[in-house]
Amino acid sequence: MTSHSPPPTDDPPAVPPGDAESSPPTDGALRDQFGRSVGSLRISITDRCDLRCVYCMPETGTKWLPKMSMLRVEEYLRLVRIAVELGVRKIRITGGEPLLHPRLHELIRSMRAIPGIRDLAMTTNGVALAENAASLKAAGLDRVNVSLDSIERSGFTAITRRDRLPAVFRGLDAAARVGLRPVKINTVVIRNYNEAAVLDLAKLARTRPYQVRFIEYMPLDAQRRWELNKVVSASEIRARISAHWPLERIDGEDDRAPAQLYRFRDGAGTFGIIASVTEPFCTSCDRIRISADGKIRSCLFALEETDLRHLLRSGAADAEIEKLLRRAVWHKWEGHAIQTRRFVQPEGGMSYFGG
Ligand code: SAM
Ligand code: SF4
Repeated sequence: MTSHSPPPTDDPPAVPPGDAESSPPTDGALRDQFGRSVGSLRISITDRCDLRCVYCMPETGTKWLPKMSMLRVEEYLRLVRIAVELGVRKIRITGGEPLLHPRLHELIRSMRAIPGIRDLAMTTNGVALAENAASLKAAGLDRVNVSLDSIERSGFTAITRRDRLPAVFRGLDAAARVGLRPVKINTVVIRNYNEAAVLDLAKLARTRPYQVRFIEYMPLDAQRRWELNKVVSASEIRARISAHWPLERIDGEDDRAPAQLYRFRDGAGTFGIIASVTEPFCTSCDRIRISADGKIRSCLFALEETDLRHLLRSGAADAEIEKLLRRAVWHKWEGHAIQTRRFVQPEGGMSYFGG
């Protein structure tokens, strides 16, 4: 264990549960028992992927969701329309790899037509982005986050188990060129794996029009190989970068956004750190997720999900769907407990319930 990774502790209490018996409000925005409201919905539109990142999926043997159990475009649209009526303003399409979805453009075009969405974004591995960037922009997508954990071809291939780095670079170029901006890069840093990415990607943030976000490695890998000592913490990332380029912290536009933002003092760009493990931001979390098979996940680390698909497919009225959404959000727990002995890793990896 390094000095940057605090040891597990049982103190403070891991997950103040809220009152399981209390009922959610019947009107107003979607909110929970801890004073948080939901402004952001992340939708996983597939669990399939063309990469096999070591921190997310196993190399082989993934059990895919049956096609019949996955939501249809019309079902996603209905959910989004209801969520927007309840105050959601930001939609992020994710997966699995969303670029593999055969009706992605249609989905984006129809979502764009729903009044009230302020930000329509997508998280992608970028492999098929170059050939889709212009048409996605035309369909109404605002911006993309592209995952990139190494700018070295061998390092990229080791992490993703696929030799696709040149395609991702072409995708990044295309996204910036067609105006899917700001183009953000998500970089997960794992000890003894891709620590060199910290300086390599910081340099990229200084020289190219990309906003890099370093993400702490979270216990959400399907192979359950996560260990606290593999987490390269936010404080270590800051220290490594500031030893080369002096930094200053800046305020973001949205104080509910998860990234801490920094500016290089010499004016050459900015970057962010998402410190989910060592500096959690649960108290300002405004997100919920929907998995590709229609389960609401009120927290990335939640152990329980609420099934919406059965309602969508049983002729339920919008009011019933709203009621279920309100209940799932109301019972969102106060925060995760990763650094305690009581933490239990949820089933499935990020490719299932969407990052
Ligand atoms: N396939 C797309 C991609 O890779 O961008 C979208 C889905 S992926 C699950 C969404 C994000 O989750 C990616 O940025 C990925 O790096 C991140 N992610 C996956 N597993 C993670 C883990 N164990 N810890 C931290 N981030 C993780
Ligand atoms: Fe696929 Fe994204 Fe998971 Fe990598 S992180 S395996 S690209 S879903």
